[in-house]
Amino acid sequence: MKTTDVLIIGTGLAGTYVALNLPSNLDITMMCHHSTNSTLAQGGIAISLDQKDSFEAHIDDTLTAGRHTNNIEAVKTLIESAPDQIHTLKKLGVEFDQDAKQNIRATLEGGHSFPRVIHAGGDQTGQSVMSLLDRKINSSDNIQILRGASLLELVVHHQEAIGIVYEMDGTIQVLYAKHIVMATGGLGDLYEHTTNQEGSTGEAIAIAAFAGAKCQDMRYIQFHPTAYKNKDKGYFLITEAMRGVGAYLLDAHKNRFMDHIHPLKELAPRDIVSKAIYDVITSTHEPFVYLDTRHLKTAYLKERFPNIYKTLEKDGLILGVDLIPVTPVAHYTIGGICTDLMGRTNLKHLYACGEVASTGVHGANRLASNSLLECLVFGKNVAEHIVSHHEDLPLPSYSINPLDPWKYTKTTASQNYLVHKAYIQEIMTKHVGIVRYDSQLRLAKSKLTRLLHQLKKVRYDHIDHAKSYNLISVSLMVVEDALAHESLGCHYKDIEKKGL
Ligand SMILES: Cc1cc2nc3c(=O)[nH]c(=O)nc-3n(C[C@H](O)[C@H](O)[C@H](O)COP(=O)(O)OP(=O)(O)OC[C@H]3O[C@@H](n4cnc5c(N)ncnc54)[C@H](O)[C@@H]3O)c2cc1C
Repeated sequence: MKTTDVLIIGTGLAGTYVALNLPSNLDITMMCHHSTNSTLAQGGIAISLDQKDSFEAHIDDTLTAGRHTNNIEAVKTLIESAPDQIHTLKKLGVEFDQDAKQNIRATLEGGHSFPRVIHAGGDQTGQSVMSLLDRKINSSDNIQILRGASLLELVVHHQEAIGIVYEMDGTIQVLYAKHIVMATGGLGDLYEHTTNQEGSTGEAIAIAAFAGAKCQDMRYIQFHPTAYKNKDKGYFLITEAMRGVGAYLLDAHKNRFMDHIHPLKELAPRDIVSKAIYDVITSTHEPFVYLDTRHLKTAYLKERFPNIYKTLEKDGLILGVDLIPVTPVAHYTIGGICTDLMGRTNLKHLYACGEVASTGVHGANRLASNSLLECLVFGKNVAEHIVSHHEDLPLPSYSINPLDPWKYTKTTASQNYLVHKAYIQEIMTKHVGIVRYDSQLRLAKSKLTRLLHQLKKVRYDHIDHAKSYNLISVSLMVVEDALAHESLGCHYKDIEKKGL
């Protein structure tokens, strides 16, 4: 029987930070199946550091963006714990960008009333932080990483999470653990167009739900307003910090349109900007709007956003000279597995933190650059709780073999997972986008339910079937939650138009 003290599923900022905050006498196993979104983070980390700023102002901005439906205790915890976690990152060696007087530089982003987003490597905050933390993980003797491993099921005994079923190298295996941490990130890749890494499909949320974990707020999918369609690849994010330093949004006729929509104009909360772009795109029948930086200096933009500059330059676009075509795409998952402020779920010994978790901290719409902070603050809390509740006891005995239902052998034929995934992406994009209609949501539900029923009987025949089943299930969680709730924040339902 394979066992570990702490099993952390996910190697992004949330999972990594939990691991690094645990003592070295614990045996820790981490696992991952795709690259993390954490490495992609551009804008930075929101924290109120300046004398003229305050925790209260950051809290107010978070609540305003979230439409005051946030869990206020979670918001206070997030913001008031920020200085300690940034201090820890600095002690670990993260170098945040500084001005000539060696003060940390901070930028304005959408929905913030003060420039408070600190960054590293210009627009490569995620990469700068993660490369350093990954090195620490790799040099820790008590931490092993199972790369290319996919979580398939949680093993639960009397409301207590005791292990998992996972696939690695084509075989299905069981691993038992005293504490299990879900740090599996979001579900942007359930959509055809996303800023997320391929593989960010959120199936771990469905897996947790099947095991009895409570989930909430699945309808709140945040679309980022400004993604650029790379010539050779998918969508590439242009950070909100670009608008924070003064970039405008123009419609197809080269007119600014945010002036009429919100007092903060281009720096309104994300859901508002995305919906405004959606409306412009719908009315002009152009597939994008433009990000205009022509009034800003190329040299400054190149120094401040080196990675974005390089990426656009490869496509022949120069910041400060050319208009950049942008469009909103799926970006951040607000809902997920319900946890308290220590990352505890309703199942004993099962924790969740980072994007997969739902503490209620973001309300109906996440404030820009609050999510890396969420990984740090709640990741630290999870580690603290594990440490204070770890007893060196044997795992509870479990009489059923979790592999019993599986009929899979390496030679079993499968219906292709990628075909199912493409179909799900089409449904989510068409029917569950920025603007939703009840009739479209019902259509999505019936398509997904039909596919789920087809796969139900063959779910354990092949890894592909199990993975497809989980993907359909998490998509259905989004659709059903959207159907059950009225419009708010980034869940925008329009009045039914005739003919739809
Ligand atoms: C392009 C981009 C830019 C962003 N910029 C910012 C920013 O500037 N500031 C900010 O605050 N936020 C930003 N965000 C959001 C932020 O990066 C994420 O919310 C955060 O990094 C999520 O971290 P995480 O650890 O929860 O998940 P991730 O970093 O996505 O890691 C998820 C991990 O779980 C693993 N996993 C998932 N499912 C399974 C499974 N079934 N089996 C095994 N392993 C699994 C993955 O392999 C991966 O290791 C940005 C996001 C994107 C996509």
